Amino acid sequence: MTRIAIIGGGIGGLTAGIALQKVGLEPVIYERAPEFGEVGAGISLSPNAVKGLNSIGLGDFLEATANEPLHQYLFHGLTGEILMDINRKDCRDQYGGPYLQLHRADLMDGLIKAFGQDKCEMGKALSGLSQDEQHVELRFEDGTTAEADIVIGVDGLRSIIRDILFDTPEPEFSGHVAWRALIDGCKLSPRATERTNVNHIGAGQNLVTYPIRGTKLVNLVALTRADGWVEESWNAKAHPSELAKVFEGWADYVIDAISAIGEDDLYRWGLFIRTPLSQWVKGRVALLGDAAHPMLPYMGQGASSAIEDGVVLGRCFAAAADPVNALSVYENARVERAAFLQAESNVGGDRLQAIDPYFLRDNPPKDEDALGIFKYDPASVELA
Ligand SMILES: Cc1cc2nc3c(=O)[nH]c(=O)nc-3n(C[C@H](O)[C@H](O)[C@H](O)COP(=O)(O)OP(=O)(O)OC[C@H]3O[C@@H](n4cnc5c(N)ncnc54)[C@H](O)[C@@H]3O)c2cc1C
Repeated sequence: MTRIAIIGGGIGGLTAGIALQKVGLEPVIYERAPEFGEVGAGISLSPNAVKGLNSIGLGDFLEATANEPLHQYLFHGLTGEILMDINRKDCRDQYGGPYLQLHRADLMDGLIKAFGQDKCEMGKALSGLSQDEQHVELRFEDGTTAEADIVIGVDGLRSIIRDILFDTPEPEFSGHVAWRALIDGCKLSPRATERTNVNHIGAGQNLVTYPIRGTKLVNLVALTRADGWVEESWNAKAHPSELAKVFEGWADYVIDAISAIGEDDLYRWGLFIRTPLSQWVKGRVALLGDAAHPMLPYMGQGASSAIEDGVVLGRCFAAAADPVNALSVYENARVERAAFLQAESNVGGDRLQAIDPYFLRDNPPKDEDALGIFKYDPASVELA
């Protein structure tokens, strides 16, 4: 049997692992962290991703765990006026899968259980690899080595595998900053825990809230701009008063949400981007997820596209004549789609955070349907 090593046990690595198991393979995940930790944030999964997860057996888990927003509302950040009501309740009929929102830790839990914790080698930080025509040798920071026939690099934005394969420039600060917090649902107005996604937009910044775990928690994400990223770490704790200052003068809903954030519960992320790659595969090694195509979060497609990659990868192994050919079928099937999502996501901030929110209302950009984002089904898309 083909020995497959997956480097990185995030959403992309675990999805790829499950998809490969579904076609009879037994991949091993090597994860740098000593254990899977609690990730304090929510995540949206659009219908394209949900269809993919359903196809590898996670449908019941998602139905039981996730919230399904019925509307996505855009409000004028300063006045609080409603600008757009985007229907999400018809996604099942329209696209064959729902739009879902859940706690990241719950999604990770579901994926780990489905893949099998015992098939994850924890505390294994890859430090190097070399390949010849027969196999790949993996080297880890703890001095150990392993051998595989195929390696899938799902080691995130700062992927060491991408650097080894393609020697591309370092990630660059995008000028965008994300602030994230989970708020106790009881501390907010009933509107924050309705089955909706509430987005307040204004010049150069916006703030989104949606409930997760029923109405227990509200996920808050604010996206703002900065000239540079000087913090030592790319994510750091921040005080709610700093965010309050950035949103001074905004609508009551925004001010109330920020003042409900616990002192210790706010994090700030510098968002980094990398130049798009036209090639993800070299010999017996392929990239997947953020390692291949990191994108800004304005269309909520980073994890969703990693899920698409993983599901398609599994199908390629089932369909191809040999494992190396499977990687090339995977690359052909995915590069164009991911580059498109990356490009749309990276300009999404400029569209959404227009100088004048009324302009957005009067000139709505192409929606996900017109862009074909939700229609895509990784479980049935044609493999070239
Ligand atoms: C503010 C914000 C909001 C977002 N919201 C959404 C959303 O709503 N919907 C959505 O679809 N996407 C969203 N995203 C994007 C999404 O989080 C990422 O695209 C997704 O998590 C990428 O998954 P991944 O598995 O490719 O990489 P990662 O999640 O980065 O996982 C990489 C894994 O590899 C491990 N690793 C790294 N280096 C090594 C090594 N050398 N050896 C071994 N292991 C290693 C890491 O520890 C990690 O576990 C958001 C992103 C941000 C910043």
